Amino acid sequence: MNQITTDLLATTPDAAGRFGDYGGRYVSETLIAALDELDSLYNRLSQDPDFQREFDEDLAHYVGRPSPLYEARRWSEKLGGARIFFKREDLNHTGAHKVNNTVGQALLAKHMGKQRIIAETGAGQHGVASATIAARLGMECHVFMGEEDVYRQSLNVYRMKLLGAEVVPVTSGTRTLKDAMNEAMRDWVTNVDDTFYIIGTVAGPAPYPRLVRDFQSVIGREARAQSLAMTGKLPDALVACVGGGSNAIGLFYPFLSDEGVAMYGVEAGGDGLATGRHAAPLSAGTPGVLHGNKTYLMQDDDGQILHTHSVSAGLDYPGVGPEHAWLKDMGRVEYVAADDQETLAAFHEVTRTEGIMPALETAHALAYTARLAPTMGRDQIIVVNLSGRGDKDINTVARLDGIEL
Ligand SMILES: *Cc1c(COP(=O)(O)O)cnc(C)c1O
Repeated sequence: MNQITTDLLATTPDAAGRFGDYGGRYVSETLIAALDELDSLYNRLSQDPDFQREFDEDLAHYVGRPSPLYEARRWSEKLGGARIFFKREDLNHTGAHKVNNTVGQALLAKHMGKQRIIAETGAGQHGVASATIAARLGMECHVFMGEEDVYRQSLNVYRMKLLGAEVVPVTSGTRTLKDAMNEAMRDWVTNVDDTFYIIGTVAGPAPYPRLVRDFQSVIGREARAQSLAMTGKLPDALVACVGGGSNAIGLFYPFLSDEGVAMYGVEAGGDGLATGRHAAPLSAGTPGVLHGNKTYLMQDDDGQILHTHSVSAGLDYPGVGPEHAWLKDMGRVEYVAADDQETLAAFHEVTRTEGIMPALETAHALAYTARLAPTMGRDQIIVVNLSGRGDKDINTVARLDGIEL
């Protein structure tokens, strides 16, 4: 494993927004000025104690932070081996980690005087988090969503409408998340003067991967302090699921220079990596350019984006944040995959053993934890990012179990 020094962290990404060979800006000329404006505003505000205080207060009183670090004693005992702790992002307002980021980006929009928010969404979780914060700040909100997903996620679509957002069905391409991102980008090019684009994960052109990471890093900072207070030491291993990679980098980032902390990012293995029906670009993809940045992608030899498959809509994305691509090549984080079957098993196991029903995205991290914990000692500690709650997935789980609700 390569050591990552604090010096290297301080200079990554570089001024061009590159994490080694990855990241950067691959966008049309019209967006460069808008990204420059966002970059310089963010550079200023991220050093401004008043902005930080405003963000911290929203996290405390609106989101409900700090989220607890909970020891899953019964599940740990059952598995045998390491003590397992859950970082409870499922207890945040709106039920997942995404709100940490939307609160932060909405504050940036407010400081830029922009009244119109746009966002893209796949499963609808980021759309709901964006519509939520737009309602609170009295902003106009448009959420782009693939037509296929609008149909599959009707509950979240209605939730966004209740919050006052307009859901825009996208009919191009495969009518899923990647097409919704393209359409949001197109809207932003057209309406850049009054519009702020809230990207939902650590992807997109610079400076998005960096600022989303910074907003989500509250997860790791809290986990670090909580682990020291509860166990007297840092964790031996961190585990998080990886879609675009925001909950994972949020947990990992404050530990990257701690050599003794192993890290595992768990991608969606779908029907199994060998079948090609998965959403695991780091485990089985190749570098290329998508949505304004260079990173690992699921693509064919001609650079055509491949169809993805996962039991959880929130991991169903053919790319991944560029910082993860860099961390993979550095060998600092190990990226693995959990398939649909073991994910579903972990969902049931944790629900029945701990009385905590995880999101199906999160259950991928739990599936890998079930493999990892028995290989470790009883004096060792794993922190798993419990990225979201599973209520939204009950219909999917019922269908997979052959039950008609
Ligand atoms: C959206 C989502 C994810 C995947 O997104 P990341 O950017 O990889 O974190 C994971 N878990 C939950 C609960 C989600 O809603």
